[in-house]
Amino acid sequence: MGRDDKYVLIALGGNAFQTKGEVGTTENYWKNAYRAAETIVKVVKEGYRVAVTHGNGPQVGVILEWMERSKDRIPPLAMDIAGAMTQGWLGYLLMQSIYNTLIKEGIKDHVKGVVAIVNQVLVSKEDPAWQNPTKYVGSYYNTEEEAKKVAKEKGWVIKKDPRGGYRRVVPSPNPTENIEVGAVRKLIDEGWIVIASGGGGIPVIREDDGTLKGVEAVIDKDLAGEVLATNLQVGTFVILTDVDGAYLNFRKPNQKKLDVVTVSELERYYDEGHFKAGSMGPKVLAAIRFIKHGGKRAIIGHLRDGYRVVKGESGTIVVPD
Ligand code: ADP
Ligand code: MG
Repeated sequence: MGRDDKYVLIALGGNAFQTKGEVGTTENYWKNAYRAAETIVKVVKEGYRVAVTHGNGPQVGVILEWMERSKDRIPPLAMDIAGAMTQGWLGYLLMQSIYNTLIKEGIKDHVKGVVAIVNQVLVSKEDPAWQNPTKYVGSYYNTEEEAKKVAKEKGWVIKKDPRGGYRRVVPSPNPTENIEVGAVRKLIDEGWIVIASGGGGIPVIREDDGTLKGVEAVIDKDLAGEVLATNLQVGTFVILTDVDGAYLNFRKPNQKKLDVVTVSELERYYDEGHFKAGSMGPKVLAAIRFIKHGGKRAIIGHLRDGYRVVKGESGTIVVPD
């Protein structure tokens, strides 16, 4: 199975569902989903076969808070289940908004349909991340005393959050394989638009007997997107976010947007520390990995310009050496 130029994986960032400072109402979720859908549909109109992935950070946070607040009446559920819930929630928003936009544009017959799948992503039991949890999740605790009490009760690691208060931290292990990729590929080949690997996928480990088990962790959606893009053998991997590309010296007077950059050059900038951990860092790393794994182009750009980004007319384009 070779690389396919007409196959593209589009990773949507947080702004596809909730823009910075906006309240997460049902109306706002739909409004934002339709905006993202418009971009996806324009790309479909160009003749591309599209898979879509998305983040879930704020939404998984909301679910954990709901569970925390109602814990006296309803037992809180594990994090992997919370992740699965966000795949349903956000997958549904995208599935319906893309479907309806296809109809409004009169091109519903260009595709078989739109489908969101519940999708597991494999991480290693051996991953060093297990020894060093770094991802802040869930509710804030005000005092150290309260934090210590909860940590003991639940067996959680709770740390001081630089943004204030105390919060649970969980590991963010490296994704190694998308478990249901074969089904995703079949659906795309048959003409479906597929939403997969939502929120970085539900993190699972493989036991010695081959069985899978969900774990309390979060996977970065850009890194999981790369695994899906590579497993699917798409030609182009597109990461849409709220900035128009990857910058050197970001937010400094001498900041400079990267236009077209080779993978080696970008790796050098990555090692020099130009891209912030947890935001642009994983996007750049995902782009580097995609090209190293044989991809043709990885592009990081603004959701607003999504259609032009996919065509390589906007954003930071990463190419092989
Ligand atoms: P998403 O929800 O799309 O994953 P993130 O907030 O995780 O979005 O990442 C995008 C953010 O990365 C931008 O809003 C920007 O502030 C930040 N960022 C950090 N370093 C850089 C950089 N070197 N170039 C561009 N943006 C950067
Ligand atoms: Mg992010």
